[in-house]
Amino acid sequence: MKCFPVCGLNEAITKSFDKIISLDIAKGIREGLDPTIRLVDEQGGPLTTIAEIKERSVLIDKDTPKRYVTLSVTYSQILWMICSIVMRNHDSIAINYEYDKMSSKQKIDFEQELLNNGSVITRYERELLDEKKVLSDSANMLNTIEILSTRKLSAEEIEELYKYDITSDIGTRVNSLYVFAISFILLHEFSHHSLNHDFKQIGTRDEEEAADHNAFWTLYSDMEGEYRNSALLGILCALVSLIFIDTSLKDDGVHPLPIERIFYFYDILKEESPKYAGLMCHLFYTWAVYSHDENMPPLEAPYEDTIEKIRTYMLEIEHNNNE
Ligand SMILES: [Zn+2]
Repeated sequence: MKCFPVCGLNEAITKSFDKIISLDIAKGIREGLDPTIRLVDEQGGPLTTIAEIKERSVLIDKDTPKRYVTLSVTYSQILWMICSIVMRNHDSIAINYEYDKMSSKQKIDFEQELLNNGSVITRYERELLDEKKVLSDSANMLNTIEILSTRKLSAEEIEELYKYDITSDIGTRVNSLYVFAISFILLHEFSHHSLNHDFKQIGTRDEEEAADHNAFWTLYSDMEGEYRNSALLGILCALVSLIFIDTSLKDDGVHPLPIERIFYFYDILKEESPKYAGLMCHLFYTWAVYSHDENMPPLEAPYEDTIEKIRTYMLEIEHNNNE
């Protein structure tokens, strides 16, 4: 059976790990960490566990690594779709806002320019001008995410996913977000190893927070230039993706509460640039559509104000759901 399209990006994830200079994978390997990620849920879903670090209980021989990380391919595909919906809606609103302000003559010139210029960016922008297509693709992807959380996709349904152009130039912008989002998830697991957490017992909230912090600060301090921007946006996508997997916002007894967890890291990033607010708003609007929440505060400019209203609203739901 054909793998999810997202499998085509596995090499890009490995490359992104090479860019994380402070990440001492070699040391991890010496200490018995298997460098190969074991993929699960490859056969079309449904989703089991997002990612985990495990310890083999009985060592077969001294050359068998004692610890390994698993990653769900179904989750990876869900995360890619969330990145795609959010990025394309965010950029589509921005480009259509500029387009609507243009005179008829400017619109014709702009469209001509998009047609004549064959660069990746212009092809991406041309696609985004078609708001209807952005919305219908988003609706289809949300529908697929819902299916993937309950059952396996058929071969035909997997084939359908290939039309989103995952490995094309146009997918590049989405892919860069996705690759770092997955890197954050994997770094979180790697951190359980590098921070010497006790694998004999169930993790504690302190350990989960420490793993989050270690993963976050590693990407935050190691990434430079354009990668840094994608990496930090990717972290937010990864954190918000978790409330798609469990929309109840319930305390799982181990991890920090999901909304508090997201905003903890958003608060660090917002000091740096207002651009994170836009992505956050689109992540939460996408979640509202997905979870049939009809009371999400409406989008009013600027994004920084809207996201504060969303924060208050979401924290209240989280609080009520955990009473
Ligand atoms: Zn963990």
